[in-house]
Amino acid sequence: MKRITTLLCASIIAQSISAQTFIQAYKDRADMVTQTNITTNLQDFGSFGIKKTGTQANTNALNWIKNKYLAYGYTASQITESPFTYGSATSKNLIITKTGTLYPNKYVIICGHFDTINGPGVNDNGSGTSIILEAARILQNVPTEYSIKFIHFSGEEQGLIGSSHYVNNVAYQNGVRKLDIKLVFNLDQVGGVKGNNNNTVYCDEDQGGLSSNNAASAAVTQQLRNCTALYSPLQTAVDPAADTDYIPFEQKGEIITGFFERIRSTFPHSSKDTFANVDPVYVYNIGKATVGALQHFATASTTLAVNKSVSQNRLENVKLYPNPANNILNIELPDKASNFTFEITNVSGRTLLKVNNETKINVSALERGVYVGILKVGDQTLVKNILIER
Ligand SMILES: [Zn+2]
Repeated sequence: MKRITTLLCASIIAQSISAQTFIQAYKDRADMVTQTNITTNLQDFGSFGIKKTGTQANTNALNWIKNKYLAYGYTASQITESPFTYGSATSKNLIITKTGTLYPNKYVIICGHFDTINGPGVNDNGSGTSIILEAARILQNVPTEYSIKFIHFSGEEQGLIGSSHYVNNVAYQNGVRKLDIKLVFNLDQVGGVKGNNNNTVYCDEDQGGLSSNNAASAAVTQQLRNCTALYSPLQTAVDPAADTDYIPFEQKGEIITGFFERIRSTFPHSSKDTFANVDPVYVYNIGKATVGALQHFATASTTLAVNKSVSQNRLENVKLYPNPANNILNIELPDKASNFTFEITNVSGRTLLKVNNETKINVSALERGVYVGILKVGDQTLVKNILIER
């Protein structure tokens, strides 16, 4: 929940899509957000009642979120419950880590709080919570170059207590940066107002606090606007970042951006912040923008069927070896196909090497890492991850 004063200095800037290309695979995944899932998430979130930090309802909501990740296929080892105290209350942040293929130690953080105050908080912040869950569900088995941390903060309504604890005790320890953070992308109060024409979303840009990170925030916020235009039907406007969970990161010099509703609801922090008063279609559309942007920020694979042979019959017995490979990668075709192409791309889909009808591929020019091998014989395609070791 942000102060209403942020509206006064907000500016609406004409939409521009510059130097950022449309990627069909990103769009296909953005379109995997479903209205049914968003609506169910919002309603289930509301059903836990007032999720004030330190209460049983707060814990129940945390467990519900955790079980969603397990149902999506995340393993217990990817999930961390990080407790903190606030006065006499104890609560937990929930952190889910998905490891990147090329930059496993550099993190894109997508976050939003799940604690509420005075009401069920379906807008503030069941809306952001529901979207983060959909993004995590859709990207669970999609390779991304950068690692992603999905973080559900508690203690936001008491003054960013959970996110401050995370920044000052986990991301930084004794003032030393322990986590290489690419950027922080926060979602708070994106529920819209039922009955309004909610066709625009605010993209939060860092215009205050430390000045050293403002330009970088402006750049990623522009990228967020571009992704919103590319992968959702929404328009965007920029407003100054304030009063939500990216602020403790900003104070450390990290790069932040975020979404916030353009037409501001007056229901948050009251018993009227219910499902009936939000616009689920708006949340659904911001969900699409979020999935598009998160893929862009984390550089998701543009190959849709990694590790699965698209046509099972003729290519299923093809061998690519050794894997991991060092200098030479061999292709063994079971039926001596004479006319084929073999391509190696990075996980973003950029072609690095392409050969015709060669069964001994010189891969010595590739750096150590994970690549995608694409074999095409006639109308059949085999896609496999290739590891290069040095
Ligand atoms: Zn909030």
